[in-house]
Amino acid sequence: MKTVDEHLADILDAVGVLPARRVPLTEAHGCVLGADVRATVAVPGFDNSAMDGYAVRAADIEKASEDNPVTLPVAGEIAAAAGTPPFVEPGTAVRIMTGAPFPPGADTVVQVEWTDGGTQTVAIHRPARRGLHIRRAGEDITPGSLVLPAGTLLGSTQIGLLAAVNVARPPVHPRPRVVVLATGSELVDLGERLQPGQIVDSNSHAVAAAAREAGADAIRLTGVPDDAAQFEARFREVLGQADVVVTTGGVSVGAHDVVKEVLSAGGQVRFESIAMQPGRPQGFGVVDGVAVFTLPGNPVSALVSFEVFVRPALLKMRGHTNLNRQAVTVTVGEPMTSPPARRSFLRVRVSRGQDGSLVATSAGGQGSHQLSAAASANALLVVPEDVTAVEVGKPLTAILLSSDPADNVLGALTAAAGAPGPGQ
Ligand code: AMP
Ligand code: MG
Repeated sequence: MKTVDEHLADILDAVGVLPARRVPLTEAHGCVLGADVRATVAVPGFDNSAMDGYAVRAADIEKASEDNPVTLPVAGEIAAAAGTPPFVEPGTAVRIMTGAPFPPGADTVVQVEWTDGGTQTVAIHRPARRGLHIRRAGEDITPGSLVLPAGTLLGSTQIGLLAAVNVARPPVHPRPRVVVLATGSELVDLGERLQPGQIVDSNSHAVAAAAREAGADAIRLTGVPDDAAQFEARFREVLGQADVVVTTGGVSVGAHDVVKEVLSAGGQVRFESIAMQPGRPQGFGVVDGVAVFTLPGNPVSALVSFEVFVRPALLKMRGHTNLNRQAVTVTVGEPMTSPPARRSFLRVRVSRGQDGSLVATSAGGQGSHQLSAAASANALLVVPEDVTAVEVGKPLTAILLSSDPADNVLGALTAAAGAPGPGQ
């Protein structure tokens, strides 16, 4: 049997990073930058005020104090808007708002709190040093400087920064287009009435959702029967619309495992037994430039296989270099078993014990059809190939899966400070 690591290495060798292209900024959110972005402008673009207050000359208010305020005539007002600010004559003040262009003639901003706030004349009761509260042009970004390097994941702050430097179409690695094809003659789509022996297709929903969670655009096709000709037709059809095709079902050794039958005939997809549980039968290959993953049909097997093999491939295609989830060392809170010579991925709940350490307990039934236990897990416990009996207290690696804040077992801030109350 092939090891998990060998199989993953083969997959990652075979898939490439999707070439970067320019997309509208809104679409770029959640993508990885494909090239360095340099500034063509300065930010701030012009000297401006960091405070609501008055633009004055520092020398004119040098002697200002609470007891002896300096009173200056207010010669005008500058709002945060377009236009050229007026010259500030010696011995005068101009009202200025935050973000408004800083006027020539003045050399400092006195914040409104240090004055009486007057509109005809203003009494200033504290001196201000030259340059106070002036945001200088280029103080954040200078033209030509590196704004964000290639490889940066564009979250909200990075999107804001790109907008600030007026980049309308950043170059990003596109989201992989994933088509999920659920096969099995027993499958019906959501909401349909079930005849004896039929089941609702859950895999196509779950795998497409997992692909979206991995940053892909995913669509799902359901109800492809266990019929070689029909499967082949659907498969050929979707090849042209996808970067990745993920099938579920039909890859074990049953009499009607048509995915394996059809795709092994083509020769590009290899079907192998991987030393893991769940998810032993796996197929992978590249067909007409499209990465094809054939996952087993049992719902938990399909999802674990996706997690272990498809997700890292999607992250690579999206331009990520770290393809791993957060993994932590946990101790096991109850005895567990694992088959010999296979790496198990047990569905567990990881929580913080009384002593602050991380403890894993089983999330429930570990059968590869038992989706409800998987749905209550927040981690996969990795039991190495050479371990068959896991005793209480044994340290093992757990892969953290959940993005639910309630599952944030690492939460250093809340763990240290106690659960924050409202308003904190
Ligand atoms: P297979 O890999 O086709 O032998 O299927 C293994 C098990 O998974 C069988 O019990 C199937 O009924 C079940 N199964 C296959 N495809 C799906 C699916 N799309 N949704 C839910 N269960 C499935
Ligand atoms: Mg089947």
